Amino acid sequence: MTIENLVIIGSGPAGYTSAIYAARANLQPLLITGFERGGIAGGQLMTTTFVENFPGFPDGIMGPDLMDLIKAQSIRWGTKLIELDAEEINLNQNPFRIKTSVDEIFCHSIIIATGASANKLNLPNEKIFWSKGISACAICDGATPQFRNEELAVVGGGDSACEEAVYLTKFGSHVHLIVRSNNLKASKAMSDRVINNPRISVHWENEIIDVDGNEWLESIKIKNKFSNTTEQINIKGLFYAIGHTPNTDLLKGQISINAKGYIETESGRPETSKEGVFAAGDVADPEWRQGVTAAGSGCKAALAAERWLTQKGLCTLINRESVEPAKTKKEEDIKESTKENFQSNGKWQKGSYALRRLYHESSNPLLVVYTSPNCGPCHVLKPQLKRVIEEFKGTIQGIEIDIDLEQEIAKDAGVIGTPTVQLFHNKELKNQWKGVKQRNEFTKAINKILNS
Ligand SMILES: Cc1cc2nc3c(=O)[nH]c(=O)nc-3n(C[C@H](O)[C@H](O)[C@H](O)COP(=O)(O)OP(=O)(O)OC[C@H]3O[C@@H](n4cnc5c(N)ncnc54)[C@H](O)[C@@H]3O)c2cc1C
Repeated sequence: MTIENLVIIGSGPAGYTSAIYAARANLQPLLITGFERGGIAGGQLMTTTFVENFPGFPDGIMGPDLMDLIKAQSIRWGTKLIELDAEEINLNQNPFRIKTSVDEIFCHSIIIATGASANKLNLPNEKIFWSKGISACAICDGATPQFRNEELAVVGGGDSACEEAVYLTKFGSHVHLIVRSNNLKASKAMSDRVINNPRISVHWENEIIDVDGNEWLESIKIKNKFSNTTEQINIKGLFYAIGHTPNTDLLKGQISINAKGYIETESGRPETSKEGVFAAGDVADPEWRQGVTAAGSGCKAALAAERWLTQKGLCTLINRESVEPAKTKKEEDIKESTKENFQSNGKWQKGSYALRRLYHESSNPLLVVYTSPNCGPCHVLKPQLKRVIEEFKGTIQGIEIDIDLEQEIAKDAGVIGTPTVQLFHNKELKNQWKGVKQRNEFTKAINKILNS
């Protein structure tokens, strides 16, 4: 049985930064990225556009691009990634035990960097219209054709809500911001951008009591908290920006957690109430919750873990048979296919020209991925799909469609959010997946076609 020196759980700025430090200290850390349990791999910055306050990027950087870079840096120094969720964590045994859907992992020390997840309203009809008009990520889904030139709503009153409301004015005809109180909790600059925007109406002191529609969301019902009067607003999209809950459910009863679910540590320190277990980032930070503070606390947690392992004489050299992913390559900037550069046997091409040609001419299964420019989950999924395509050594082909550029194609294909993947063979749609899925879901479906 291999006992890992250090397992890091979570792949936001806290997790990847602690991995950089731990890997450089030769601890050969293993990092469980998360898959769907507590947000997406790469963490909350995968759901935003420009990050303007992370040091080192004077012109700002897109959140998913920033996370791709931090991830690449952690892999460069030898971090092994497990692209799954931690499903059980047992801190009451030595070594500690972590269970994923595939494996059990044993380790001497753990850094918990599981961040926080988007809250929901739990409305009576919420489940029916989730992903059919309701989304927790305006940045990921705002560009889809169903929201274009339609009235949209955002619920919340903080920075995220304001940022999303402003962002959605690029796509919707008008944006309603539903705010529970009589003021915005966002920064003054952000609040001013909302209040002075003629394409945003703020509905103060109102709560959403339900949503309605047919196949797709068509309206929300709001209720004024004081007069109790209700109003129906016809909208085609509702975006949640009502805060996050720390991802600590797997730790309950095992370490000290406060009433709001945050891991308790001494102020500014990474040690938790359990020796050998350290916390980093938003999961232990009810106050600052920023990319750079999460990264800083990831650094502290890794240094503290290294010191602790050294003091206890627990560091060992771990022999890895393989490191996965082997090496991160910088995402190549693939040009849109045209008549001139189209390749009938190309493994991965971009745009509707390639799609049309391959759809009509190729006898291979075709994986078509619909993405939008700032969609974090698309950043997670695309490298996975490219690895699937590599595994099949040219017997399948991939095409990427940017729905922002190719709205008609996306509409014809019935795409209602990104990422969406469609698998075609001989002009027939064989499978469709929405959101990020495990690689084996794609390989199973492709093998079924190839072996039939
Ligand atoms: C819309 C938006 C905009 C923002 N803009 C900025 C900004 O401009 N600048 C800034 O500094 N900050 C910004 N923030 C805040 C910043 O994103 C967070 O403070 C930061 O991401 C916290 O990092 P973290 O590593 O602690 O956690 P997160 O980023 O939340 O990452 C947590 C990770 O843990 C994983 N995880 C959860 N549960 C499990 C499990 N059971 N098993 C395995 N993995 C798991 C998740 O998949 C995820 O990868 C923004 C946040 C939002 C929501």
